[in-house]
Amino acid sequence: MSKFLSQKFENLAPYVPGEQPQDMQYVKLNTNECPFPPSSYVADAVASFEANKLRLYPDPENAALCNSLAKYYGVESENVFVGNGSDEVLAFIFMGFFDKEKEVCYPDVSYGFYPVFCDLYGLKKNEIALKDDFSINVNAFIASDKAIVIANPNAPTGIALSAFDIEKIVKSNPNSLVVVDEAYIDFGGESVVKLVKTYRNLIVVQTLSKSRALAGARLGVAIADAELIKDIKAMKFSFNSYNVNRLTESVAIAAVEDNDYFENCRKEIIKNREWTTGELKSLGFEVLPSCANFVFAKHNTVGGETVYKELKRRGILVRHFSKAKISDFVRITIGSAEQMQKLILEIKNLLSNVK
Ligand SMILES: *Cc1c(COP(=O)(O)O)cnc(C)c1O
Repeated sequence: MSKFLSQKFENLAPYVPGEQPQDMQYVKLNTNECPFPPSSYVADAVASFEANKLRLYPDPENAALCNSLAKYYGVESENVFVGNGSDEVLAFIFMGFFDKEKEVCYPDVSYGFYPVFCDLYGLKKNEIALKDDFSINVNAFIASDKAIVIANPNAPTGIALSAFDIEKIVKSNPNSLVVVDEAYIDFGGESVVKLVKTYRNLIVVQTLSKSRALAGARLGVAIADAELIKDIKAMKFSFNSYNVNRLTESVAIAAVEDNDYFENCRKEIIKNREWTTGELKSLGFEVLPSCANFVFAKHNTVGGETVYKELKRRGILVRHFSKAKISDFVRITIGSAEQMQKLILEIKNLLSNVK
């Protein structure tokens, strides 16, 4: 730390992203990326993109993209905000809506960025313990009168709440903002996007990083009541008016247009997830019921860190979290059928060696 870093950030522990080895020698199942390429519409958009346009700033409203997303979600474009990945969208939300006086509640096992944003903005954290089966304790969020952030499906457990339960939380907290992070919703959960027309205290956040295979393009979305969207825009225009670049805007529009490809990809991931879950169970793993493009699994004798290290040695990257409550688990991204077969093969090898 230099002597110039502000004192208020002295103890800031930044978010640690999953490993991103740049030499591509691993079967990469550690950061929930899509194993398939983006839609061919995206490749076409890149190929026909005029480099000369990069001379000009992008549309600060990203109107074309917001219109196409509004159509996709069945809302108006005044209900849509886009950001440089949903991480940025979440950053604007934490910055703009949460106050020092009011605690921010989220599950104690959830997306690692929530506590980081709280620390960054000096907010009070209230981490609500998951139930023994690793599902979210819905009752603890009902009428809590605190700011609420819930990933649905939750990460890294993969367990989803029903839209009915989310609605109970939103409805019972009319004076608190409820943020539902639907990064993994396309893999089996039930979106609450349609509820933004009814509730003025709900923001749904989604991303094109996972189910649309655009993690490298960085495009996140918020869907909410128009007043809330205006407020998020005020944050953006006070921070970076051109947060979504021209190339990203054009590939995002292309990705959203190709619904057939999107449907095929997510069905394939769901199929591979069910196959992988069955195989892991037969090898002695407990696998939490996942509605996401990953599974969270714990072996009955071999610890999570050992599984992680032994797989890495064998060329497969998965994610391990050292937090005590979940340190027996590994989070495994669902890849192609071939990648999953390799995973299961290497897990069989490591189990026979470690035992
Ligand atoms: C991956 C992820 C994000 C971030 O997605 P980006 O759009 O790539 O920034 C947000 N929330 C959760 C729960 C995630 O897993």
